[in-house]
Amino acid sequence: MIEATSSCTGCGACQQICPVKAVKLIPDKEGFLYPSVDIEKCIKCNLCEKCCPIDNLVLKSEEKGRPIVLAAQNREDNILLKSTSGGAFAVLAKYVLSKNGIVFGACMNEKLECFHTAITDISQLKELQGSKYVQSATGETFLQTKQALENGRIVLYSGTPCQIGGLKCFLKKKYENLITVDIVCHGVPNQCLFDQYIEWKQNKMNATIDAYIFREKERCDWNSPYNYFSIYVNKRKKFEKVIFDPYYWLFLNEASYRESCYQCAYANDQRVGDITIADFWGVEKFFDSFDLKRGVSLILLNTEKGKVMLEYIKENMYTEDATIDMAKERNKNLSAPTSRPEIRSQVYNIVAEKGIDGVLKLMQKNPKYYVAIVKSYVPVKVKAKIKRFFK
Ligand SMILES: Cc1cc2nc3c(=O)[nH]c(=O)nc-3n(C[C@H](O)[C@H](O)[C@H](O)COP(=O)(O)OP(=O)(O)OC[C@H]3O[C@@H](n4cnc5c(N)ncnc54)[C@H](O)[C@@H]3O)c2cc1C
Ligand code: SF4
Ligand code: SF4
Ligand code: SF4
Repeated sequence: MIEATSSCTGCGACQQICPVKAVKLIPDKEGFLYPSVDIEKCIKCNLCEKCCPIDNLVLKSEEKGRPIVLAAQNREDNILLKSTSGGAFAVLAKYVLSKNGIVFGACMNEKLECFHTAITDISQLKELQGSKYVQSATGETFLQTKQALENGRIVLYSGTPCQIGGLKCFLKKKYENLITVDIVCHGVPNQCLFDQYIEWKQNKMNATIDAYIFREKERCDWNSPYNYFSIYVNKRKKFEKVIFDPYYWLFLNEASYRESCYQCAYANDQRVGDITIADFWGVEKFFDSFDLKRGVSLILLNTEKGKVMLEYIKENMYTEDATIDMAKERNKNLSAPTSRPEIRSQVYNIVAEKGIDGVLKLMQKNPKYYVAIVKSYVPVKVKAKIKRFFK
């Protein structure tokens, strides 16, 4: 039967496959979910171990051939505004929904909980659009996917690579009507940390936050290093600078991720999904045809099923043909997992002892914090000139 180890990604496959519901995902002392087995209920069928992707990793390497690599930007501005990168996900979802299919992805509800859910109509697309920088709970979505596939529906399942790995191990067999989409992923903090942070923020503001948008394009350009996020308070949108925020500070300094993220088996160019989507960082070095303000997607069509989408993508997005080397130049998690910074060992203890105020103090003690603030006030054009001067 399954045992929690530091390689566990929390994908939820073991929980969903257990025929007697003996597996539960329980938060550890940091708040990350790990499986726990109720020995009284367990019938020792071993299905949970067999479906765990840690020992049964399914990577794309089983299928030969190079990916088709694209730089791409959605043709619709309203879609681009809601999308984190260039709106690739929206196009893929639209394709599947137009075929009466089902699309699974991560959403965030009004309680600001992040979890996977299904949509069946284009009007629901906005629920899944946009990155949520919290680990999404897969719930029963692997079971729902299997049922939909068995009923002959086309299913698109999108998520972090470890979620796609978990789904594939859970399903065991290949389905022609399943399209998997993985994102390039550097790591995830957990829901408990996010909840504590939201409570801290609400107390400071003496108001309730109704919605949280992690990457906001209305206030700054997609490629600006000093981004904004936004929150809704009493139905009014409030923009906040990422650099002053303790949750974001931990996230951008890679200090709050799950332990499995620092040893991620999926952080390479052998992708687990039929299609990979990401930010095409550094795209301006290769192509000058995109409006960088709105965001550019990197798309890898990894398998034959992925490559079938090429024509539809070209119809709905401005595209340029790229190469995997271009993609890897500025996207480090296509080559290796995120390195575990030294402060990772302290972060969750600080949160447990001193709450988010403790993180704020840690942030304000760090010299890099002040460098980032100063840099954020230097106009982009001036920065480019300084860079050129030192070349
Ligand atoms: C935690 C996380 C880390 C990331 N790290 C990188 C990175 O290092 N480099 C990079 O280039 N891109 C990274 N991305 C991907 C990038 O931010 C965009 O999500 C991606 O390019 C898709 O953008 P889009 O414009 O096509 O669509 P969007 O509408 O912005 O994306 C929606 C898609 O993101 C998925 N998604 C959103 N939040 C989550 C979540 N919490 N868990 C699982 N799936 C989620 C949805 O299911 C949907 O498939 C990361 C995303 C997340 C959520
Ligand atoms: S990686 Fe997934 S299947 Fe394996 S133990 Fe963790 S939650 Fe369970
Ligand atoms: S061995 Fe079978 S019954 Fe026991 S926890 Fe695993 S899946 Fe459930
Ligand atoms: S970094 Fe790897 S283990 Fe962590 S959430 Fe992303 S895919 Fe999963």
